[in-house]
Amino acid sequence: MSISLPRPIQRLSALLSSLQGIGPRLAQRLVLQLLRGERRRIRDLEEAFHEIREQVGWCPRCGFLTEGENLCSVCADTGREPTVICVVEEPQDVLAIESTEQYRGLYHVLGGAMSPMDGIGPEELRVKELLGRIREGGIAEVIVATNPNQEGDVTALYLKETLAPMGVRVTRLARGVPSGGDLEYSDRSTLGNALEGRTDL
Ligand SMILES: [Zn+2]
Repeated sequence: MSISLPRPIQRLSALLSSLQGIGPRLAQRLVLQLLRGERRRIRDLEEAFHEIREQVGWCPRCGFLTEGENLCSVCADTGREPTVICVVEEPQDVLAIESTEQYRGLYHVLGGAMSPMDGIGPEELRVKELLGRIREGGIAEVIVATNPNQEGDVTALYLKETLAPMGVRVTRLARGVPSGGDLEYSDRSTLGNALEGRTDL
């Protein structure tokens, strides 16, 4: 005889285990833990998910996370250096670079990297928006901080070829970040050094 858990438990467990880093057993344990605790916590979670869905969007200028359709906290901060843009693949890369406390410029989040084999070209990324920002003027340097892997390299090269004729200096993080790795997983000082030692592309 085999037992099966109620369907809602199975469903939530399956959804949770589709997240990176959460296996099926951990997912089930989390759900059972929620059921054991106060029901209020489940309601709070429901509300939090609702807020995430309804109130979080992408910054219309840089593509970072923001509330509603407002400028994100970086773009809205008048204390930032407005002549430098650091181009990254994903929002978590912004957090990684911010954690170095060595960068005071602006960002541009592409939403991924170019991957011709997967049919991801510049049109699939927020490249057009980046070019728009540069055409507006006032940008002296673009730091390409895509991940140090094949897709990141292809993207960096494309950006260099596209941006250089526009009269903007294009640099790339030094190779301190382990090759093939993710910016997100680099430690703070490695990333800080990579930023410091950036070179012209
Ligand atoms: Zn922004």
